[in-house]
Amino acid sequence: MKNVTVIGAGTMGNGIAHTFAQSGFKVSLVDRSQESIDQGLGIIAKNLDRMIAKERITEADKEATLSNITSFTDLKEGVSKADLVVEAATENLSLKLQIFGDLDQFAPADCILSTNTSSISITQIAAATQRPDKVIGMHFMNPVPIMKLVEIIRGYSTSDEVTKTIMDLSKKLGKTPTEVNDYPGFVANRILMPMINEAIETLYNGVAGVEEIDTVMKLGMAHPMGPLQLADFIGLDICLSILNVMHGGFKNPKYAPCPLLVNMVMAGKKGVKSGEGFYDYSASRKAEVVSKSFL
Ligand code: NAD
Repeated sequence: MKNVTVIGAGTMGNGIAHTFAQSGFKVSLVDRSQESIDQGLGIIAKNLDRMIAKERITEADKEATLSNITSFTDLKEGVSKADLVVEAATENLSLKLQIFGDLDQFAPADCILSTNTSSISITQIAAATQRPDKVIGMHFMNPVPIMKLVEIIRGYSTSDEVTKTIMDLSKKLGKTPTEVNDYPGFVANRILMPMINEAIETLYNGVAGVEEIDTVMKLGMAHPMGPLQLADFIGLDICLSILNVMHGGFKNPKYAPCPLLVNMVMAGKKGVKSGEGFYDYSASRKAEVVSKSFL
């Protein structure tokens, strides 16, 4: 496996492209606009500079990594030689079904099609193709170049051979792949999102304030970041959409998103990316507690 196409140059896509390119793969980075690609490439260069400053890589490693990446705004062109596709476009079911229909048409017949989706069914995405045995979830964690875990999700029809290939490949990237089955939220978000939702519920019920809840979980449970701040980093809209997928998929009220989370997303408070969530990020990326108390 040599040629990897990454679809989407956003938060996850640029990290995935960076990781493959740094491990010597030839990466085709596809996004719908040149502006998104330029932004993604800029972030990769900045992250490589950060690694040079920490003496983890050399200037020559940076150049070699960047020279392994070619960009495309045309999906057909970008996947024509792919051995593997990693789709990391916006989390939207109809968009992903459309992309996988196109990938099935334009990627070589033996190419493995993977998705970085946080919550959408791999089995449903695979059904948009004529090769469901070659469709698999590769759920990288953010920030991709740093986080070790890749949750490998087997759809209903994913073959043993494809699963083994992707597990081995993830190890070559220096990651720790972990195999799970395809049910709503997989493992990572099935456990993480109810905790985040409960933290929001605790705030909504007036049990404690934002800082207090995060402090209890940081100092009491040795979490590096409190659940409310983590939700801001993930994006409150993403948290809401994952909870909705789990609520709809299991029909279990325990996954129902807290009304405060729903309200905040409707009000455009999406966390770091919108400048405000449970904390205020307008002055810098440093979290300041928002002045309005929910107590
Ligand atoms: P993002 O919004 O930062 O980036 C999405 C990118 O996809 C954008 O650059 C957009 O222009 C591009 N795109 C949209 N439609 C496209 C198309 N038709 N063809 C090519 N590119 C297209 O989103 P993100 O946070 O990088 O999330 C990407 C995927 O990764 C989602 O499925 C998300 O659930 C998953 N994920 C996100 C995180 C996270 O922490 N953000 C973690 C794990 C998995």
